Formats: sequence, C-alpha cells, structure tokens
Amino acid sequence: MTQTTGFPLDEIERRLRDGLQARQSQLVRELEEMVAIPSGQGHAPGLDAMRELLVSRLEALGATTEVHAGDARPTWLLGASDAAPTPTAVCSRPMEDAGPRILVAGHLDTVHDPEDDFITLTHEADGISRGPGAADMKGGLLVAIAAMEALDAEGIECHWTFLLNSDEETGTFCSERHLEDAARQHDVGLVIEPALPDGSLVVERMGSGQFMIEVDGLSAHVGREFERGISAVKVLAEVMTEVLELADPANGKIVNIGPLKGGGATNAVPEHAACWGNVRFADPEAQASLAAAIEAIETKWSIDEHGAPLPADHLPRVTINRTFNRPAKPQTEAVTAVAMAARGVSEALGHELPFAKTGGVCDANVLQNVGLPCIDTLGIRGGNLHRRDEYVEIDSIWERAALFAILMKRIALGETDLDL
Ligand SMILES: [Zn+2]
Repeated sequence: MTQTTGFPLDEIERRLRDGLQARQSQLVRELEEMVAIPSGQGHAPGLDAMRELLVSRLEALGATTEVHAGDARPTWLLGASDAAPTPTAVCSRPMEDAGPRILVAGHLDTVHDPEDDFITLTHEADGISRGPGAADMKGGLLVAIAAMEALDAEGIECHWTFLLNSDEETGTFCSERHLEDAARQHDVGLVIEPALPDGSLVVERMGSGQFMIEVDGLSAHVGREFERGISAVKVLAEVMTEVLELADPANGKIVNIGPLKGGGATNAVPEHAACWGNVRFADPEAQASLAAAIEAIETKWSIDEHGAPLPADHLPRVTINRTFNRPAKPQTEAVTAVAMAARGVSEALGHELPFAKTGGVCDANVLQNVGLPCIDTLGIRGGNLHRRDEYVEIDSIWERAALFAILMKRIALGETDLDL
C-alpha cells in the first residue's frame, strides 16, 4: 500500500477549504445555537430540537429521513430509569455510481444536566470557547454537516447517510440495532467524536461491558439471632474479590467495580447487596475470557459441592447480569487505509495527524464490529469532555470541516488507497 501523505490539495479542495474558512463566523453562531439547546441526560425536548435542526439541514441537501423508535435498555443498568427509549434518525442521500457508501455517525446527547447553569458557549481571548457538549459532540455534528453542505455546493456526487442517535453517552442500548443495520449497508464509517486534545486520530479502541452482581441473603437481628442470618454483604464481598481478580491489564483485561450498596441498618444482617461494574477488553479473546470467567463465578455459587444445581430458593443466591455490547475496535488494514487517507488530507491542510489508541469506547466500536471499517475522532479539537469546563478550539470548526469535506471527497471520487 502506498502512503497518501503529502498529496497536495487540488483546485476543488482549495475551494472547499477557503469556502469553509470564509464561513467561520457563521459556523461559530451555529455552534452557539446548538450548545444552547440542552440535550443532556435524556432531556427529550432538547434531543428533539437538535434532531429537527440537523434533519432539516440534511433534507435541504436531498436526504430522506427515517426515525426509528429506540429499544428498551436492560433494567438492571446503573441509573436505568423508566424514561422512554430515545429514537434514532437516519438521513440518507443514496447516489448511484457515487463511490463508496459513507456512513457518518453522531450522537445528539451530552452528559450535561439540562438544569445546570453551564448552558451557553462562551468565548475566551485565546481562541478557546467553553460550553456543555461543545466538543462532545455538537462541534463534531457541525463539522460534518458544514462539510456535507460544502461538498453539495461544489456539486460533488457522494453517497452518504448521517445517523443521529440520542443515547451514546448512556451506552447506545436504544440505538445499537439501528447502528448495526446502517453499518451493514455502508462501506466506510466516519464518526465525529472530538479529536484527542493534541489533535490525534484514534485508530484502535478497547471494548467495554457492564455488569451487575446481586446477592440475596437472609436478614436476622444482630444481637438476638446473628447465626441464623446470611449476610448478603459478606457474600458480595467474596464474589467481588473473585471478579476483581480477573483484571489483567498487561493482557488487555480491565475490571472495575463501583458503586455498591447493601444492607439497611447496622444491627440487621443484610438481606440484599448489589454492585455495578465495568470491564474493558483489548480484543475478542480477552472479551470471551472475561465473559467465561464471570459466568464460571456465577455458576460456582449456584451448585453444591458435588456439582449439582442448588434449588432456586437456596440462599445465598448470587446473580450476575452482564452486557458486553461495545466490542473492541482493532486497527484493521481497512482502518489503517482510511486513517492514512485522513492523515494525507490533514497534512495537505498543514496539520500533522498522529495516530493513537484508547481504552475509551464510542459508537464506532459497534459499527466496526459488524464489518464497517471506521475512524472516529474526526470532530472538533477540544478537551475536558464531560466536565463543566469542556472547551473547544474555536478555529478548529472550519479546519476540521475542511478535513472532513476533503476526506469525503477523496473517498467518493476514489482518490484514496481504500480498497472498498
Ligand atoms: Zn461523544
């Protein structure tokens, strides 16, 4: 494979770049508008407003929209509420003979409290602007849509779909199936999570899974009948220790537990105890090994010393719920090819584009798991994600939009080394 770095901008690409740069003050106003829409923590009016704003801009480019109802989340998840599952909008502009089918994926939700007083985009003198979700990922949504508008204005034929889900920050349980369906109908995925603070492009991610351990014991008065009680807290402590010992970071296995709860009063043997945890795994082998080991621990607590299953009402009872729904995202050959294409564009625009790995997960994990090669940190440059001082480098709106537009153009016109 030849490297595409150093390939200079052609005339169309220079026009795309200059046009986006000329739009920068307008783009800043658009980001202010998006940041001021509170779409955090499942806030439906804000999610709806964000969806309508983006869908109308995509439909103006000729897209047709399908809105899919969300699937229910597992009820045992930490913080699971009875809030209605959130919908996913899929805006497609198919085009015959317009090169590889590009899936752009972004999330409308943020982690920020809609009732908080961190609600607007404020600009500082040094080119830094702060606002809730400005980097993760309203800036990314704007980068992509501005790029697609610029391509359209240049008359570049490009087959794209823009998928907008509303629950990425809470695990993509409502939208996972729609992400997978869309992934199967496309050739390459571009996800607009923010760039790493130094501008790096993530090419490899660990996978992530959630679990919950529940223990039922038997309550008893501590002073009068202590020996009759079966402490759910004591059993949970033993099970947690066994599960935590599965961590082996050097071999790509991370296990974390917390928060936890158990008991109600200090003078009563606790009847119930539970904890929630998160595993991270570097590859499918580490995922399978963690899953099997956790299942073996649950089984051990449900059989007697001869290996026979204990009756259903036997105490203590240990139940482990788990969902490992974000598989690891390895750097495949196809990922390297897309990443090299992005690096080529970035360098032609005057910015280095280092590659990086992370233990963090995003929707690209889900998309790539069903066969769609993805790169996923094509959004704005910024940092302090999920914090009340989240920031963006404001000039990176047009710079990253130019990168995104030219990358899409090169993919659509077959000007990369991608073999799709
Ligand atoms: Zn994000």
